[in-house]
Amino acid sequence: MRVLITGGAGFIGSHLAQAYLQRGDEVYIIDNLSTGSLENINHLKENADYRKRLFVSIDTILNRDIMVELVGTCDVVHHLAAAVGVRYILDHPMESINTNIQGTEKVLELCNKFKKRLLIASTSEVYGKHLHAPLVETDNIIYGPSSKFRWSYAASKLMDEFMSLAYFRTTGLQVTAVRLFNTVGPRQTGTYGMVIPRFVSQALKNEPLTVYGDGRQTRTFTDVEDVVWALMRLIENDQAFGEVFNIGGTEEITILDLASRIVAASNSSSEIKRIPYDEVFGKDFEDMQRRVPSIEKLRALIGFNPKTPLDAILSKVIRFTSKRTNGI
Ligand code: UDP
Repeated sequence: MRVLITGGAGFIGSHLAQAYLQRGDEVYIIDNLSTGSLENINHLKENADYRKRLFVSIDTILNRDIMVELVGTCDVVHHLAAAVGVRYILDHPMESINTNIQGTEKVLELCNKFKKRLLIASTSEVYGKHLHAPLVETDNIIYGPSSKFRWSYAASKLMDEFMSLAYFRTTGLQVTAVRLFNTVGPRQTGTYGMVIPRFVSQALKNEPLTVYGDGRQTRTFTDVEDVVWALMRLIENDQAFGEVFNIGGTEEITILDLASRIVAASNSSSEIKRIPYDEVFGKDFEDMQRRVPSIEKLRALIGFNPKTPLDAILSKVIRFTSKRTNGI
């Protein structure tokens, strides 16, 4: 099979590319390296077997000519190209909205033209500021005002979902949207705000772990390999078209407890420091206090059952980060 991965040099995209190459497929990547990096895929390009089946275009998904060629060539499309990370979105609001709206519009239009199966990555941000758990795909959505720019990301991804469902209903496009909850694993960078790579590198340097707010906000974390497993199965499942699925873990933890676990797991002497949100993000910031997915819909369709507990995820990230820091 020929698989196109937009955002294939990103954290999740590069793991997905690797899994398809391992399976024997041909992989086409398009990535503008805004938050992705060639470092994420160098090991694939250096592999004698994989490199014959890996085609990388460093370009934007807004370039119609190249997208026509790529979508025309491939059998299925995973659309993962998007602005990622709270920090990045706050710093690049215009670019984030453009990629999410215009980029996705282009991918949908071309997959419809060439009749290609499509999986669109949406986000758990779409739910907004709920306090209940678990979050079910049919739940209402609650956002803050448009002056709080964090919500622009949720709103633009929600529009991606609407556009996908509209195509499915009007043209029969074989499209599925997934709401990705916090996904973690080797190669994820803390540069754009992601908490686990940030805490792990702080702990390994014995620097203070920067807990934002009071640290009582919670998240669940999923190993990227569990996420990749689900993405590969969903895109091949006819029952998934025209549907939206949560993909995430179920082990809820406060950010403060997460910090303590990372300090212990990495034998660090770091202290834990609380920092008010406005010192980090300015006054127009709102965090999500709680974010736990219901994975029943996904479990029922493809038997999704995340295999990697949080402690194992943390060990993996700690191992990877200390090797990289030591240049091994
Ligand atoms: N966070 C933190 N310190 C950091 C980075 C993040 O306390 O150095 C918190 C952040 O405020 C949020 C949670 O960790 O409550 C998860 O943040 P992340 O950016 O990884 O993902 P989000 O769930 O916000 O998209």
